[in-house]
Amino acid sequence: MVRLMAEELVKALDPELKRLKRDYIADAKPTMDGWTDEVLAAIRGVSRRFSSSLFESQIQRVAASTVSRADADNAEDFRKSVNQAVGVDFQLITRTKGMQDYLEASTAENVNLIKSIPDEYFKNVETIVLGGMKDGLAPTAIAKQIQEQTGVSARRAKLIARDQVSQLNSDLTRQRQAAAGIEFYKAVDAGDQRVSGAPGGKYPNAKISCYGIARQDIGYGPGVYKVADGAPWGGKTGLHPGKHHVLCRCVGLAMIPGVNYFPKDG
Ligand SMILES: [Zn+2]
Repeated sequence: MVRLMAEELVKALDPELKRLKRDYIADAKPTMDGWTDEVLAAIRGVSRRFSSSLFESQIQRVAASTVSRADADNAEDFRKSVNQAVGVDFQLITRTKGMQDYLEASTAENVNLIKSIPDEYFKNVETIVLGGMKDGLAPTAIAKQIQEQTGVSARRAKLIARDQVSQLNSDLTRQRQAAAGIEFYKAVDAGDQRVSGAPGGKYPNAKISCYGIARQDIGYGPGVYKVADGAPWGGKTGLHPGKHHVLCRCVGLAMIPGVNYFPKDG
């Protein structure tokens, strides 16, 4: 989407900037009329296409299919991991009534997040273009700043997408564990240099330590927490695996008493 926005914008803006270059560079005392109206009309003509109801119905479809694919993957992963622990292949409840509502809410939230990307992009582009023209910058210099903004938006879109899928996964696992009557989980970190708080890793001083959460014992065993409560760390509570912090990659393994979990008191 970001690539498409940038392509459409360049197509509309480039001829305008080149056509108006002589005027705005010669304009010693720029006013907010004349060339500004024309260039704003060009930007807004493109931005309208990315806020139309047609566009919104497209992102609604993208969000709904992404959420339902993430749900299907999560259901399959959950079934596999529990069955592997138990050693028996049995079907688990994979969808509860509350979950359908949750999936719909998650889709709506994602539609809003996706919509925020063109909104922000075109707002920043207007600032860049108007500012650049006031300063008498050459069209190539303005184009370069737009390109940088495109990169910023693309990275933000990627971050949102990754974070949303991982949060969704975390929430769905928790709901499936609760629905299956699983009371405890074990937090397991990603086991590499990028794990927050890992000594000798890239982020040894991270505020929330996934490394620490996966190892501390709050009374149920190292890294073991209640599905309903999540983990505490650094004064925070309710930290669930996959949501310890943005882009947390931890998972919560279902603890099944007598199978892979042997509580001290029975
Ligand atoms: Zn984590």
